[in-house]
Order: sequence, then C-alpha cells, then structure tokens
Amino acid sequence: TAPLDAAALRADFSILGQRVNGERLVYLDSGATSQKPQAVIDAEVDFLTRANSAVHRGAHTLAAEATELFEDARATVAGFVGARPEQLVWTSGATAGLNLVAYAIGNASLGRGAPASARFALQPGDEIVITETEHHANLIPWQELAARTGAVLRHIPVNDDGTLDTDAAATLVGERTRIVAFTHVSNVLGIVNPVAELVALAHDVGAVTVLDACQSAPHLPLDLPALGVDLAVFSGHKMLGPYGVGGLYGRADVLEALPPFLTGGSMITTVTLDEAAYLPPPQRFEAGTQPVSQAIGLAAAVRYLDGVGMGAVHGHEKALEARMGEGLRSIPGVRLLGDAPGAERVGLWAFDVDGVHAHDVGQFLDARGVAVRVGHHCAQPLHRRFGLTASVRASSSLYNTADDVDVFLDALSGVRAFFGAGA
Ligand code: PMP
Repeated sequence: TAPLDAAALRADFSILGQRVNGERLVYLDSGATSQKPQAVIDAEVDFLTRANSAVHRGAHTLAAEATELFEDARATVAGFVGARPEQLVWTSGATAGLNLVAYAIGNASLGRGAPASARFALQPGDEIVITETEHHANLIPWQELAARTGAVLRHIPVNDDGTLDTDAAATLVGERTRIVAFTHVSNVLGIVNPVAELVALAHDVGAVTVLDACQSAPHLPLDLPALGVDLAVFSGHKMLGPYGVGGLYGRADVLEALPPFLTGGSMITTVTLDEAAYLPPPQRFEAGTQPVSQAIGLAAAVRYLDGVGMGAVHGHEKALEARMGEGLRSIPGVRLLGDAPGAERVGLWAFDVDGVHAHDVGQFLDARGVAVRVGHHCAQPLHRRFGLTASVRASSSLYNTADDVDVFLDALSGVRAFFGAGA
C-alpha cells in the first residue's frame, strides 16, 4: 500500500488547524473520539438539507430517497467490516450494542424468542468469560446479566506486559462457558489481542463470542467474518463518523436466533393487543426511529477510511506508535502500560508519570496545545491491576504526524521538573 500523507489529509479536518492556548493544536485523544473529515459533516448536512425524512414508512418521494440512502449506508458500513448488509444492526454506539447483546441473551434465558433462542439461554452456574482489560462497556452489562441469570462472571487475567494470559484463558474457558466477550484492542494498552486463539477456545466449548472492536475498527483492516467472531460492536464517533451511531455485527445464524432487546415500532410484522411478531434481523434489533443522518455520516466516514486504505492507516499509525513508544521510554519517570516487546499495536500509549498526577500532566500538556486523555479511561479494574487509579493516554488517528508526536514528547519531557518531581 502507498504510504499515507497525513499532512495532506489534515486539510480535510479544519478543526485541527486551530490554536489552543496560543499553541498549535496537537490532538492525541482520538481513542476517546476522533475528529470528523469535512466529507462526513457534509454528508449529514446534505442529507438534512436535501433528503431528510423518516425511513421505511410513507409512500412519498423523500421517504423513498431517505430509505435508499439509509440502506446504502448499511451496505457500505457492513462492507467495511467484511459483512453483508443484513449482518449489520445500527445501534447508538458500542455501549448500546453490548447492552443489546447482554439483554437479548437475558431474554433468551427467560425463555423468550424463537425455539432457536434456547441456545443462548443461561442457567445458574453457567459462565461468562471476559478479560481483565475490558472497558466498563464490556464489563458491566455482563455483571448485570450474571446477576439476572445466576451465571458466573470470570476473567482472563492480563500479564505484567499487557498481553492476555492465554494459558489461563485455556483453563478458564471450559464446558460451563457460554459467552466469551473480549476487546480486540484495549483502549488503555493498545495491544491487538489474539482473536483467533480466543475464538478457537470459545468455539471448542460451543460458547458465543462477542468482540469489542471500538479501538480496532478505526485503525486496522477489519474482516469480522474472517476473525470468526459471532458478534462484534463498534462506535461511529471513534472512526471519523458522527456521534450517536454504531454497529452491531452478527453471524447470520446468531442474529437470526437472538431475541430482541428494545421493542416497539419498526421491528415488528403483526401486532395485537396481546402479542407481537418480530421482523428478521437487522430490523428486529432496531426498535424506534432510526439514526438516519448519523448512519449516512458513518458511511461517509468509512468511505473516507477506505479511500485512504486501512492498510496505509495501520502502517502510518504503527510508525507513530513506535516513535511515541521510543520517546516515552526515554523520558525518566515515565512508565508505559502494556509495553510488551514485539506486540502488534495500534497508535495508543497509556502511561504513568512518577510523582505527577495524571490530571496535572494533562493540564500541563494542554497549556502547550497537546490534547491527551487522563483518568481511568473507563477501565478501573485494569488500572487497579497495575497499581494505579489514573493514567495519561495519548492516542493517534490517521491525521497525526511525526511532528505531533515530537511536540508531545518534547512537552512531556519537562513535566516532572515543572512539578518538582525530578528531572
Ligand atoms: N469499548 C472500548 C474499548 C472503548 O474504547 C469505548 C469508548 N471509550 C467503548 C467500548 C464505548 O464506546 P461508546 O462510548 O462509544 O459506546
């Protein structure tokens, strides 16, 4: 693949051209949310100015056009992750997608759904396996599901170097395991997890796999069917798209057998006062008025990513990550989280600065125009595992340059002296 010209791409992101606190903005917080290229903003504005209408209902011209644009968007975003349109459910984001899955499995456990739904039914003592590295969005829905069904939540531990303890995984995943839910890339460690290995363990015992692809979808080529996962989620706003939209991917037979979570309009065939029959996927999981302009915006985002080429994006961000990792290692008092030698990574590093609170580091960098995230990044158990309550996280996207990394490293190298914590 041709290398990516980040400096040229930045012209599509006018927000990056501004100054913050008198300094050039260096945006290293794309792990929280990415900036949006003009094409995405234009796609939403164009739809709202020209074709806005509710979809899948109404015989009028605008409704037909909106429906076509909306379903085209589904095909585009599904294609981006290697899926067919009917395998992509629109959600409001990854959190909504994970809750959808957990509640749908909960409903199956109550005997709801088609006969095939019984395959998801959890009995007391059944096990749900997650990892110690999960974002709270891929943790708390499972805690709640376990509490509702009597299932037991277990976790694959993380090694000191940030890799998953796959030996422990092999013994944890057993005949009581019904669900294995894990992140493709941790939003704190940045390491690409061994998806195929975990999927093989899960499928050996007939467990359903759920992948959190939030931090991989924007940064590397993603083929969900090839990864073999049963279900996967991602968030539009992290992959150059709008807020309020995301995707739930499912294997056709899995979605087919899953009962709905939210119910109401747009997801039914026939309704009486006593009962309702449901549409097949994906509509079964899309109760209510759809996020039409957001879906169209997300389609524009993945077209933009595809235009650049995800191989090129990954290569570019790997180079930034390597430069950043090397620089961070050379600053005294900086401890990287998840610095596993040779690990496959995305452009994201979280770290601790000895003697300086993460929030002070964040403010110090902000004063120099550098935007990073501080706190627990919705991963408290993982921080506890590393003896921390907070860390600093710098995360890249395709629009970051080597100069961004250098400005960040240069600023950071002065932080300990500034706070009297050593050179
Ligand atoms: N999982 C991971 C790994 C994430 O990084 C995030 C967002 N920080 C989420 C899930 C939740 O995404 P959202 O808030 O868009 O639903």
